[in-house]
Amino acid sequence: MSEFEGNVRVTKLTVGASSCLLGEAVRYDGGHKANSHIMGTLAEYFEFRSFCPEIDIGMGVPRTPIRLARRASHVIRCIATDAAATDYTDALRACADGQRNWHENLCGYIFKKDSPSCGMAGVKVSGGVGPEFDGIGMYADKTMQNFPSLPCEEEDSLADTALRENFIQRVRAMGRWHALHERGISLRSLREFHSRHLGILMRHDRGGCEQLEKILTKTSEDLLPENARNYLIQFMTVLKNRRAGEFPG
Ligand code: SF4
Repeated sequence: MSEFEGNVRVTKLTVGASSCLLGEAVRYDGGHKANSHIMGTLAEYFEFRSFCPEIDIGMGVPRTPIRLARRASHVIRCIATDAAATDYTDALRACADGQRNWHENLCGYIFKKDSPSCGMAGVKVSGGVGPEFDGIGMYADKTMQNFPSLPCEEEDSLADTALRENFIQRVRAMGRWHALHERGISLRSLREFHSRHLGILMRHDRGGCEQLEKILTKTSEDLLPENARNYLIQFMTVLKNRRAGEFPG
C-alpha cells in the first residue's frame, strides 16, 4: 500500500523502529517483542527501518542485560546488571549520534518501552535517591534530543486507537515537511504549508497555532533556516495535542 498526495502515488513513509518490536530475535535473551499493531496495522501505512542499538554497539545475543542506575551525583548511567563498572552510557549515546544520516530522513520512530536503551520515559532506575521510574533509554534520549520534532511513540501507546491515529497523522505531516524541504523551502512555501494545516492546527490547539503564526510573522529570508526549525518543533507540539479530528489529505 502506498501513500497518496492528491492523485499522486508516493512511496511509503519511513519510520524507525526498535528491532525487537518487528519480531527480530535481538533481545538479551535471544527473544523478541513482536507487536501486532506495528507489524499489522501500521505496516500498511509505513515502511520500517529496524535498528537495535545494543546490537549496533557490539553487545551480541545472548548478552548480559543492562539497567539504568542513579549515581550519588544523581546522574543516571546505563550499566551491566552484573558489573556496575561496565558502563554503556557513552556508547549508546554515541550510537544515536552515529545514525543521524538516516534518522534525519525518518518521518517517525517507534521505541520499545521500559528499555534502558530504547524507552522514551518512565524506565526503571535503581539505586540512589530519586523516583524509581523516571529514566529514559540512552539511545532514545539522544535520538529525541537530536531530532526534537520527530514524531515518537512507544509500542504500548499504539494500542490506543486515538494515540495511534494521532501518531499516523504526525508521521504523515512529517512526510509533507520532508517533501517541502526536498522542493526547497522558502518563505512562501512555509506559509503555504501552514495554510494547508491551519484548520487542523486550530482544532488541536488554538494558542499553539497563534505561536506558530508569530514565528511566521517574524520570519525573514535570513532567519528562515532557524525559524523553519522552530516552526516545525512547535507544529509537532501542537499536533500532539490529540483533541483534534482529521488531517487534510
Ligand atoms: S529494546 Fe532496543 S536495545 Fe533492546 S532489544 Fe529492542 S531494539 Fe534492541
